[in-house]
Amino acid sequence: MLDIAIVGKGPAGWSCAMTARMRGLQAVVIAPQNDNGLLRSAERIDNYPGMPQASGNAILDAFREQALAMGAQERSGLVRQIMPMGESFMLLVENDVLEAKAVVLAMGAARPVLLPGEEEQLGRGVSYCATCDGMFYRGKRIAVLSASQQGVEETRFLAGLASEVDYYSLKRHQTDGLEENVKVMAEKPVSIGRDDAGLILMTDQAVHGYDGIFVFRAAMPLNMLMAELETEGSYIPVDRQMRTNIPGVFAAGDCTGKPLQVPKAVGEGNVAALSAAAWIAGRDNAG
Ligand SMILES: Cc1cc2nc3c(=O)[nH]c(=O)nc-3n(C[C@H](O)[C@H](O)[C@H](O)COP(=O)(O)OP(=O)(O)OC[C@H]3O[C@@H](n4cnc5c(N)ncnc54)[C@H](O)[C@@H]3O)c2cc1C
Repeated sequence: MLDIAIVGKGPAGWSCAMTARMRGLQAVVIAPQNDNGLLRSAERIDNYPGMPQASGNAILDAFREQALAMGAQERSGLVRQIMPMGESFMLLVENDVLEAKAVVLAMGAARPVLLPGEEEQLGRGVSYCATCDGMFYRGKRIAVLSASQQGVEETRFLAGLASEVDYYSLKRHQTDGLEENVKVMAEKPVSIGRDDAGLILMTDQAVHGYDGIFVFRAAMPLNMLMAELETEGSYIPVDRQMRTNIPGVFAAGDCTGKPLQVPKAVGEGNVAALSAAAWIAGRDNAG
C-alpha cells in the first residue's frame, strides 16, 4: 500500500510530493499520459520566487525533476474514481487500481462539462476506459469522443477490436494516422441517449446509433471522482490544514479555489503533505 497518492502533476502536486518525501513517505504523483497541465501554456511567470521570468514549462520541469530526485514516484493515467475503504483508499487509475493510506487532490481548476445523457448511459454503453471495456465491442460499431490526442491512441487499440469506429473531436487536436476502419467525423456531439434500438449519439447534424461510445477527457467531474466529496461550485472546500470533508483526503492548489496562482498552489501542496503525514502517523499508531 502507498502512503500518499497525489492526483495531479501541477505545482501543488509536485510540491506536496517533495514535502512528503522529506517526511520519509512514499508519494506517487498521478496525471494523464499526455498531461499538458495548465501552467504549460504560460509563457512567462513573474511571481514565483527564485525563478524570475521562467516559462510555465521550465517551472514544471524543474519541480518534477526535483521531486523525482527526492524519490517521488510518477504514474501516468487519469484517476477515474477514488473509493474510501475504511482504513485506506482505492484509486482507479485508467484500468489499474492503486491503494493508498491518504490522498491529496491537486487536480487544478479545469472541470469537464459532460454531454447531456452521458452520465445516465455510463456503464450502459458509455465507457471512459478502452482497456477495461474494449473487449465487449469486438466486431461492433462504436464512437469515440475525445478532447485530446489520448483519444487517438486509445482508438488505435479499439480499432483492432471494433468493426467500425466513428471519431469525434470534442476539442481540436491532431487526428492523423488512424486505422482504415476509423472515420473522422466533422459533426459536433450534442447529447447521448437511448432509443428502442439502443444507444444513440445526437450531433449538430444527425442522430447515430452505436453499440458503444467511448469518451476521453483530461479530467473527471468531482462528483464522479469521489461521490462523498463536498464541493462548492467547482471547488473543494478545505480548512487551514487542507483537509476536505473526508478524513484522509486533502486538497491543494487551484482545485481549492481562488486565487489561482502558482505560489499559492505550492504552499498548499506543502501544507497538504504535512497534514497527510500527521494523518498517516495517527492512523498507523492507532493500528
Ligand atoms: C496562460 C496562463 C498563465 C498563467 N500565469 C500565471 C502567473 O503569471 N502567475 C501565477 O501564479 N499563476 C499563473 N497561472 C495559473 C497557474 O498556472 C495555476 O495557478 C497553477 O498551475 C495551479 O497549479 P495546480 O497544481 O493547482 O493545478 P494545475 O497546474 O492545473 O495541475 C493540475 C494537474 O492535475 C491533473 N489532473 C486533473 N484531473 C485529473 C485526474 N482526474 N486524474 C489525474 N490527474 C488529473 C492535470 O492533468 C494536471 O497535471 C497561469 C495560468 C495560465 C493558463
